[in-house]
Amino acid sequence: MSLAKTRNIGISAHIDSGKTTLSERVLFYTGRIHKIEEVKGGGDGATMDHMELEKERGITITSAATSVEWKGHKINLIDTPGHVDFTVEVERSLRVLDAAVLVLCSVGGVQSQSITVDRQMKRYGIPRLAFINKMDRTGANPYRVVQMLRDKLGAEAFLMQIPIGAEENFKGVVDLIEMVAYLHEGDEGEKVITAPIPADLMDEAEAKRGEMLEALSMYSDEMMEKLLSEEDISKEMIYTTTRAAVLGGATPVYLGSAFKNKGVQPLLDAVNRYLPSPLDREIKGRDPQDEERRIELLPDASRPFVGMAFKIVEDPFGQLTFMRVYQGTIKKGDTYVNQRTGKSERFSRIVRMHSEKREEIDSASAGDIVAVLGIDSASGDTYAAERDFCTLESMFIPDAVIKVS
Ligand code: GDP
Repeated sequence: MSLAKTRNIGISAHIDSGKTTLSERVLFYTGRIHKIEEVKGGGDGATMDHMELEKERGITITSAATSVEWKGHKINLIDTPGHVDFTVEVERSLRVLDAAVLVLCSVGGVQSQSITVDRQMKRYGIPRLAFINKMDRTGANPYRVVQMLRDKLGAEAFLMQIPIGAEENFKGVVDLIEMVAYLHEGDEGEKVITAPIPADLMDEAEAKRGEMLEALSMYSDEMMEKLLSEEDISKEMIYTTTRAAVLGGATPVYLGSAFKNKGVQPLLDAVNRYLPSPLDREIKGRDPQDEERRIELLPDASRPFVGMAFKIVEDPFGQLTFMRVYQGTIKKGDTYVNQRTGKSERFSRIVRMHSEKREEIDSASAGDIVAVLGIDSASGDTYAAERDFCTLESMFIPDAVIKVS
């Protein structure tokens, strides 16, 4: 799949907002797992101890990186630990993301961990969408959560959808671009159907669409002019502007209930449509050993390979090193230099992880996230085709930039 259709994203959340449930639904709707686990919940609090839940589902859900496919796009989901005490690990995983989905609870809204993770994401310039989950809960209030995003995180947040039905009657969403309702059919909400906007929601949908367009117009002079002269604004213009807004730091907000199987597929559509690909990311920095030397990594498969190990996992078959390829291409059987130890190591096996299954692959190129088996690495190590290239960990990412195209 082309690089333009690759998304490297993290799902970040305050504990209990539903990150695990959402990740699981993503695996389900993308066909990676074939049934939704019977997990108690859907109440106002966790009905199962969180650690127990992690133990039961953890292997499937919180693997360091999992590859799924959605409508012609490859989405690599990278685990971003949400706990404050794992800050180093969080930062390491943030370095390999191109974008994120911030999950919030419709009742709790922006909570302490959201603030910490948001600060880290800002440092790394990570564009994002927000997903207000648990729309089925008593007291769900997406408007309040959007306000919290603005007040507590200083985010340019605006709704892309409004809810149909409230609390336990939450049924789906109105899409403010398409101006249609998305409802779900099937026991697991697997079928998304499009319906006209319910008559009693029309005024609100028009009003919120106006707010959305106004917020977006800050990112497009053309759209601003059209809005002021009350001309029609095409869908294409809204798509392009939303993309620019996301790259410019805005936070479009989506709604759903992962537990009740609602709103997840439209969120995936938005990931494909608006979040940046590895092509949008350029990595620049200063070589810590040589102040004069600027290092620039380009998502180009034909340049010399540079990659970074961001997570090491011991498993029954040996050590798995999760790695992002920043530049160039790795080939099975070739050797590359660990920049910390100076040793050349053979990448004898390269795998792509699909929740529990792994796919053996022959090569991987810039922008991709894969695992290498049997190399002697530590988390944070840089590998490169060249000897004495640089250690990325120390140079990263003071001025990594997202290219605004
Ligand atoms: P995490 O800590 O963010 O990974 O959250 P989990 O996915 O483990 O969810 C925490 C609790 O909230 C569990 O009991 C879930 O069943 C429940 N939950 C998750 N999503 C929803 C939702 O959309 N609605 C409701 N009512 N409960 C949910």
